[in-house]
Amino acid sequence: MRWTQTLIPTLKETPAEAEITSHKLLLRAGLVRKLSGGLYTFMPLGLRALRKVEQIVREEMNRAGALELLMPAMQPPEIWEKSGRYVTASEVFFKVRDRAKKEWILGPTHEEVITTLVAGEISSYRQLPKNFYQIQTKFRDEIRPRFGLMRAKEFIMKDAYSFDVTDELAQISYQKMYDAYTRIFQRCGLKAVAVEADTGVMGGKFSHEFMVPAETGENEVVYCEACNYSANIEKAVSGGPSLATHTHKLSPPDSAPHALEKFATPGVVTIEALTKAPHSVPAHRQIKTLVYMVDSKLVILLMRGDDQLNEAKLVAAVGSGNFRPATADEIFAAMGAHPGSLGAVNFTKAPVYADTQLRDAAEMTTGANEDGFHYRNVSVERDIKVNHWVDLRSVQVSEACSSCGKPLKIQRAIEVGHVFKLGTKYSEKLGALFLDEDGKQKPAVMGCYGIGVTRTLQAIIEQSNDKDGIIWPVSVAPYTVCITPLGVAAGSATMVLAEKIYSELVAQGIDVILDDRDERPGVKFKDSELVGFPIRLGIGEKSLAKGEVELKLRGGVLTPVKTEEAVAKILE
Ligand code: ATP
Ligand code: MG
Ligand code: MG
Ligand code: MG
Repeated sequence: MRWTQTLIPTLKETPAEAEITSHKLLLRAGLVRKLSGGLYTFMPLGLRALRKVEQIVREEMNRAGALELLMPAMQPPEIWEKSGRYVTASEVFFKVRDRAKKEWILGPTHEEVITTLVAGEISSYRQLPKNFYQIQTKFRDEIRPRFGLMRAKEFIMKDAYSFDVTDELAQISYQKMYDAYTRIFQRCGLKAVAVEADTGVMGGKFSHEFMVPAETGENEVVYCEACNYSANIEKAVSGGPSLATHTHKLSPPDSAPHALEKFATPGVVTIEALTKAPHSVPAHRQIKTLVYMVDSKLVILLMRGDDQLNEAKLVAAVGSGNFRPATADEIFAAMGAHPGSLGAVNFTKAPVYADTQLRDAAEMTTGANEDGFHYRNVSVERDIKVNHWVDLRSVQVSEACSSCGKPLKIQRAIEVGHVFKLGTKYSEKLGALFLDEDGKQKPAVMGCYGIGVTRTLQAIIEQSNDKDGIIWPVSVAPYTVCITPLGVAAGSATMVLAEKIYSELVAQGIDVILDDRDERPGVKFKDSELVGFPIRLGIGEKSLAKGEVELKLRGGVLTPVKTEEAVAKILE
């Protein structure tokens, strides 16, 4: 491909719509363009990378014995009524009506469709096991589409569905998919970890999520370095709070207002100070902070609310001694001089108290809004004397691992894949029954397995970039090699050599792009770094005079190589 013949609309400035690095880079490198919130066009280069991810997924699914098919995106609501999910999953549905005003659902997932298919096509144990997959567009009416392809309204998923005769055999199918996923993410150059997960709206028996550790991820993974336990935050079990208060002295008491200024916006106190701490309470759920006095010292209790059960669970208590609820005055006095600020508090060590004892505590409830969590405004004017100041951001609260007792750690992560063992929930409801060896009719034992293909593509960028742009792993790069002649006049020595190397690489089956634009070298180099081609071959007059060209691996150093050795070096 020649640069002038394709369209690579790179941008110098970051579009305001993009908040996270990978989203910025997708736009700046000209890989995607937004049509509307959560709806994106894949530009020629973006599509090339996407197709490579898809192909890796396809190869590994085939290798694992899964059969590719393609189901309709548009689904009749009746099958969702049968499965019982018409109501429970309705929040995510995009619905359309035909000319007769009949309702249809744009598929957010395909358990209902595949199970209906299998109900009609499979009748004997001899036809099992089977695992069907497709790579297809899904539609979900997300509450908050954001971060580009990460959470879109329309996205590409690989979804697979296995059908087995017994639970034990279903376990084998599950393991095959688990292993295939491990290979897929490895081949995509992604560091992904499998963690135990909830089954949620899918129902079913158990599941694992494949998580890519990233600060911008919308999930949290709980893990133990000591014994390798890992689970997502909903599923994680712990042996109770394990408290470590890191009480470094910030500043002498009289300079406390300075410490406060650093992170307190006047008028609001953001709990980010707490949630940004590496091992503290997840930001996405309601957090209550209960404040007690213990022997005239202030004590903070962190409560984690459960969105669904409307229950709060004690996460950690910091402090020891005789507890009594702190009065509002005491809290304000200890917490800071500025209205609403919560900057520094005196901590000591920590016992755990049962929920019931906490009820009457002086309570400050956080309220959720677009930016995160804020305390309601509190105001005080007042002289404060606190002996010992601690930056709340340095407080580490963690829970103990239930298997080995060591402190659990929490890491934000992106969910790129999810495998579920479903059991017979769908096969029973939608009639996917088969005749077993003993002549008895039984429901097939199912599993379902999803990979967000478009999300995976963006996760690769989120994990692999630097200040200059994307660093593509070779396996998914839109082009592996970018040939950059500095002079492009037809017949010039640089262009003649560029064309020659281009043809040789193409003949070798290498994905190569020739930057034939009549642009300044700086512009060409910047663009090639931004788009992130793994190998750049610079051809300039000066080095050519020495019989050399310049080879540069993305993120690496420039190496002169002999002109005649260039192709061989690249093929290495
Ligand atoms: P999330 O927790 O992020 O909402 P999910 O658990 O609802 O995802 P699944 O039903 O498990 O998603 O779907 C399988 C995969 O599809 C997910 O692991 C994720 O990679 C991808 N995916 C889900 N929702 C979206 C979306 N709105 N945009 C892009 N990819 C998505
Ligand atoms: Mg979801
Ligand atoms: Mg999820
Ligand atoms: Mg999931």
